[in-house]
Amino acid sequence: MEKNQWTVGVDLGGTSIKMAFINDEGRIIDKWEIPTDLSEKGRFITRDIAKSIEEKLEQKGETKDKLVGLGMGAPGFINFENGSIFEAVNIGWKNYPLQEKMEEAIGLPVAVDNDANLAALGEMWKGAGEGAKDLLCITLGTGVGGGVISNGAIIHGIGGMAGEIGHITSITDGGYTCNCGRKGCLETVASATGIRRLAIEGLEKHTESELYTVFQKQQDLTTKDVFDAARNQDAYALSIVDHVTYHLGLALSNVAILLNFQKLVIGGGVSMAGETLLEPLDRHIKALTLPGVYQGLEIVRATLGNDAGVIGCAWLINKKLNRL
Ligand SMILES: [Zn+2]
Repeated sequence: MEKNQWTVGVDLGGTSIKMAFINDEGRIIDKWEIPTDLSEKGRFITRDIAKSIEEKLEQKGETKDKLVGLGMGAPGFINFENGSIFEAVNIGWKNYPLQEKMEEAIGLPVAVDNDANLAALGEMWKGAGEGAKDLLCITLGTGVGGGVISNGAIIHGIGGMAGEIGHITSITDGGYTCNCGRKGCLETVASATGIRRLAIEGLEKHTESELYTVFQKQQDLTTKDVFDAARNQDAYALSIVDHVTYHLGLALSNVAILLNFQKLVIGGGVSMAGETLLEPLDRHIKALTLPGVYQGLEIVRATLGNDAGVIGCAWLINKKLNRL
């Protein structure tokens, strides 16, 4: 393996594209962002990325020889055999040959996967999952994303949809409509959006709660407000956290029985609640899964934050090029 070379990690989102140069030890050398150009169904995206990388190399006094390849994460369902996108709704791509287009634009080997899977790989390589080969990484943010790694490899399924834990059905009757068009998905309960909605919905019946006072002041509530109140032992806030962690714990207990993974890595904005989230979640998982499965399981918070995606991208392209 040649020393002192870099890979490029590219984490594509609907509003911005995060990019980084990463060395062979998985350390970020430099990171930056550009806006995502969604015009003409995203046809300029690969060109913009290539141009930005070339500019950055020049700024750093380096040439393209410094780079061995590029790993890229996209929000959508991926055909990992050829790196094409079945569908990425937020970008406008359908049956889009992303890997081929990106290779054409940059002139380097490219590997592509789903963004949630790459965050999981990043945490496995350099984050909270370090040392584990069997892990589940979930992201509790605006939505609920998941990546499943079994024996060191991402599980994709035939349509690239494996690990979409946010769409496990949690509420079988009377659930809210999910972005996927179905009702009662875990995402409608355990995402920041779901928690906020749940808290606001019951407020009128809980005028004694500190959340009621906060709402009067702000005319809105955040997930952080809910967890702050729960930390103050506010009964209404605690009941919401219990409802959320019960449904999250139920889904994760069943997945844990299926996969018997070693680490459950929890990331995303909601995970900032720390022990106020993890303690009741751990309790529900313990009660709902097999004792033997629970004993081998470690529940931890993600440590890489927004960098997990680009670090996972670096792992992916290094793996493809047999550099790991
Ligand atoms: Zn759904």
